[in-house]
Amino acid sequence: MKKGAIITGDQVDRDQTLRPEVCVVGSGPGGAMMASRLTAAGASVVLLEEGGYHTREGFDMQEATAFPKLYQDRGNRATADLSISVLQGRAVGGGTVVNWTTSYRTPDDVLGYWRDREGLALTPALLKPHFDEVEQRLGIQKVELEDTNANNRSIYDGCKKLGWQVDTTRRNVRSCLRSGYCGMGCPVDAKQSAALTYLPDAVSRGAEVYARCRVQKIELSGKRAVAAVGRVLLDGRETGRTIRVEPRLMVISGGALNSPALLLRSGLEGGPVGKYTWLHPVVAVGAFYQQRVEGFYGAPQSVASHHFAHRSEGAGFFIEAAPVHPMLSSIAMPGFGGPLRTRMGLLPNVAATIALMIDGFDPAETGGTVSLRGDGGPKLDYPFTPRVYECFRAGMKAMARLHLANGAREVVSFHATPVHLTREADLPLLDEAPLGPNLFAAFTAHQMGGCRMGADPARSVVDPTLRHHALENLYVVDGSVFPTSLGVNPMESIYGLASWASEHLLKALS
Ligand SMILES: Cc1cc2nc3c(=O)[nH]c(=O)nc-3n(C[C@H](O)[C@H](O)[C@H](O)COP(=O)(O)OP(=O)(O)OC[C@H]3O[C@@H](n4cnc5c(N)ncnc54)[C@H](O)[C@@H]3O)c2cc1C
Repeated sequence: MKKGAIITGDQVDRDQTLRPEVCVVGSGPGGAMMASRLTAAGASVVLLEEGGYHTREGFDMQEATAFPKLYQDRGNRATADLSISVLQGRAVGGGTVVNWTTSYRTPDDVLGYWRDREGLALTPALLKPHFDEVEQRLGIQKVELEDTNANNRSIYDGCKKLGWQVDTTRRNVRSCLRSGYCGMGCPVDAKQSAALTYLPDAVSRGAEVYARCRVQKIELSGKRAVAAVGRVLLDGRETGRTIRVEPRLMVISGGALNSPALLLRSGLEGGPVGKYTWLHPVVAVGAFYQQRVEGFYGAPQSVASHHFAHRSEGAGFFIEAAPVHPMLSSIAMPGFGGPLRTRMGLLPNVAATIALMIDGFDPAETGGTVSLRGDGGPKLDYPFTPRVYECFRAGMKAMARLHLANGAREVVSFHATPVHLTREADLPLLDEAPLGPNLFAAFTAHQMGGCRMGADPARSVVDPTLRHHALENLYVVDGSVFPTSLGVNPMESIYGLASWASEHLLKALS
């Protein structure tokens, strides 16, 4: 078997035209899994990835290094009105290089909702062998309670005191030292990212991965995608070199926001491309404890509460922890100058907790819309509706309650003018605090949808086998195909779905 390679932009000194059986654009869980499964079946694969190829030697545990290197838009991505900061990976391995390792299968009721509403055939039984293999390959294991850090433990203990559902999470790590730096690239290769697992598997079976190669557009002819045209990058700039890939099958795995943007740049505006984009929009609180929490050390996420995750009733939310690193904290915490400096000085005593809104389950909800920026990148509009605000308030209250029950000295909201709570009787203050774009800190690290899968071309971009409704050889395989959000962290669902989808691609190849 021919051995493949990871080739970086600086190694490409001339324009190239390649003709593999399959071209995959993007190397996150969707693209990496696809490359792995297809090469295992003997297919030739070329994978083009905009981000660089980074290994543990370069992961120096500094936010200042990691964000420009490993995140979309150098860590500055946001919605068009700047009201939601968008954290999204950009590297060989995609978001798995920077994510916080929380691993969940797709909930059964979410698959049921998709079957009922979108005509999908996905069932827990169908996906089970795929998830079983993913969990084995990535070393996904449940966290022991004694291995949680104080930041996560405060959620666990607070929920228990209130009688709320809470549990430890599962993580894709092996021999984890719990240094706390997952978001900056694992410095000891404990995190089983796609760059350490499915991508090397694919390369060992002949896949060629071109790092720092941004696919500008997909060329079309009739009902076929005939070529992916990639521009080679060096130090973030185009070198003028191109890599043109002319495959039999084209797989777009650029992730939510980027995949719809690529379709739009390629003239594929038909259907709801870019529409129904879901974010699990996040609001946070900081809980100040008498004792040190040191939420910058330890596994960033190891506890979650799904007590308020009412998917069937429209908007619910789930509660998790966020790591308390200085840059991320200073962006999230309200205020400037002296007051911000004072709060930052108390960082070792802060527990940071997030409520992630489960979007997409109210039939009236339209979610976000991706269109194109002037530079061709994705422009994301995500309107805040009364329902979103209702959910944000409920999330903030729940987080404040659990920390007050757990003995926090004070809970502070991340409104522009923060709300300070020291007892339950203060909770109504959260109802009075104004909510509006840029009046409070909001985030997303879970972008989903925008190339929704479904049986009806008017409501979806790809069919139930993930093939584009209008093109016979183009597939979208990543988090952008989810018809709704998930109500759990998305990485494992994307791996599982891609593994299942590879069977359809293999059929198409044969
Ligand atoms: C800070 C952070 C923490 C997270 N924590 C968790 C967690 O704990 N658990 C969990 O389940 N999920 C987590 N996530 C989310 C998870 O990582 C993503 O949902 C997942 O990686 C998405 O997979 P994907 O295949 O859809 O796309 P991505 O992982 O985004 O990969 C897409 C890749 O395609 C590349 N690309 C895009 N467009 C082009 C183009 N035109 N040409 C070439 N390449 C292109 C991108 O650079 C990127 O590398 C986290 C995300 C972040 C940012």
